[in-house]
Amino acid sequence: MRVYNFSAGPAMLPEEVLKRAADEMLEYGSSGQSVMEMSHRSKEYQAIIDKVEADLREVMSIPEGYKVLFLQGGASSQFAMVPMNLMTRSGRADFVITGQWANKAYQEASRYGKANIVASSKDKTFSYIPELDSSKFDPEADYFHICYNNTIYGTRFNELPDTKGVPIVADMSSCILSEPVDVSQYGLIYAGAQKNMGPAGLTVVIIREDLIGSAMELTPTMFNYKTHADNGSMYNTPPTYGIYILGLVLDWIKGMGGLSVMKERNVRKAELLYSCLDESRMFSATVSGKDRSLMNVPFVTGSEELDAKFVQEAKKAGLINVKGHRSVGGMRASIYNAMPYEGVQALCEFIRKFEAENA
Ligand SMILES: *Cc1c(COP(=O)(O)O)cnc(C)c1O
Repeated sequence: MRVYNFSAGPAMLPEEVLKRAADEMLEYGSSGQSVMEMSHRSKEYQAIIDKVEADLREVMSIPEGYKVLFLQGGASSQFAMVPMNLMTRSGRADFVITGQWANKAYQEASRYGKANIVASSKDKTFSYIPELDSSKFDPEADYFHICYNNTIYGTRFNELPDTKGVPIVADMSSCILSEPVDVSQYGLIYAGAQKNMGPAGLTVVIIREDLIGSAMELTPTMFNYKTHADNGSMYNTPPTYGIYILGLVLDWIKGMGGLSVMKERNVRKAELLYSCLDESRMFSATVSGKDRSLMNVPFVTGSEELDAKFVQEAKKAGLINVKGHRSVGGMRASIYNAMPYEGVQALCEFIRKFEAENA
């Protein structure tokens, strides 16, 4: 029996996607082989990657003038790849510190240039998105970095800073494909696949073309966006199977009605869970108001003992991986695209039951 998996990543995939992957495991189409076994230089595979790129462009409405790159190395490699490629005019970039991932991006960039913190929410364990004062922005920064959805702390941006032309770079690892995005407002978007796109091992970069081609001299060939842009993500072997699964996920999203429908579903799920937590006397969400993430919902009882008991009993009830990140404690339910409404309902019922039994 399949469980409801609330893991922050790798995370659940839609059952339809897994079934189709299973159906096509031994033979993809009439190719006589699994996608996993295909040469990335074959005609069959070229057709797969071309369709995945076209579908991603369609689903996210990626405008002309942007390249889509299918890379490896996780979002964490982007923490270095972005500065190596972009921090090359003034050698400076602005950062908003909204959690551990944003901080890692900042720290890594500090190795290659002058990284400047314009705001931080560290004072309250990153439980909110800080107000941004544009007078603190560097008008000559090479880019302005944000982590759009903060996987660990459960916050999200709702509006973008007005950077007056400085390209915004966004880590969207835990929210990509969860709602419509106006790609034209960004210089670069990056995301590891294992939250909302497919299996770990694939990293998607969407980059404005004018930002490609001025990497630092020391940049390894594999870390230069130009290498991958010039070769259709085929300079070396791309993560072929992960890209194929992303294609199945995109088919699923298109079949559901696209990103606006995805967003409606995600809002409905998040509202259900937050209202259950807000009504509870035992449990509370650690983030309040408009900064609440639609994807990652941290919550606590206030008692470490009860938290531990909850996590353990939830697991027995088929609700797995609800333990919170060690830096927040308590619980965290990640409710990405593939988590069905019924999964959130089951979690809410379990929360109420647990409260009644342990009050
Ligand atoms: C998961 C995550 C990362 C790290 O991704 P890797 O693929 O493990 O490198 C970075 N940023 C955010 C926002 C994440 O959710």
